[in-house]
Amino acid sequence: MNSKEGKELICIVCPNGCRLNAAMGEDGQLSVTGNKCKRGEKFAQAELTNPTRSLTTTVRTSFSTMPWLPVRTDGEIPKKLIGDALKELQSVLIEKNLRCGEVVLTDLAGTGINVIAASDL
Ligand code: SF4
Repeated sequence: MNSKEGKELICIVCPNGCRLNAAMGEDGQLSVTGNKCKRGEKFAQAELTNPTRSLTTTVRTSFSTMPWLPVRTDGEIPKKLIGDALKELQSVLIEKNLRCGEVVLTDLAGTGINVIAASDL
């Protein structure tokens, strides 16, 4: 990041999608402009230090009527672990009926975050 120009970011916390500029001052303080609310500052801080994302994908099932089950994480995981998380989910095979919201996998990629069904099976 160039400390004078800052880094351009789009805040994804809400549908407003504010265009942010986040610059680290010489005093080590982050200054954020373009945000319509305080959450934008928090987002920029996290994005520049440890960006995280929710993960939405599908896992295989043994049911021919629904061979893929939509799933999502019940929280955000570090962006850098998304590749590991997807690899882990490739080996999942659901062999029993599940209700939407039931846990499919615990501690995804060692993050402590669970993967839950996003639909009934
Ligand atoms: S800065 Fe606030 S208003 Fe703008 S997108 Fe982020 S959360 Fe929404």
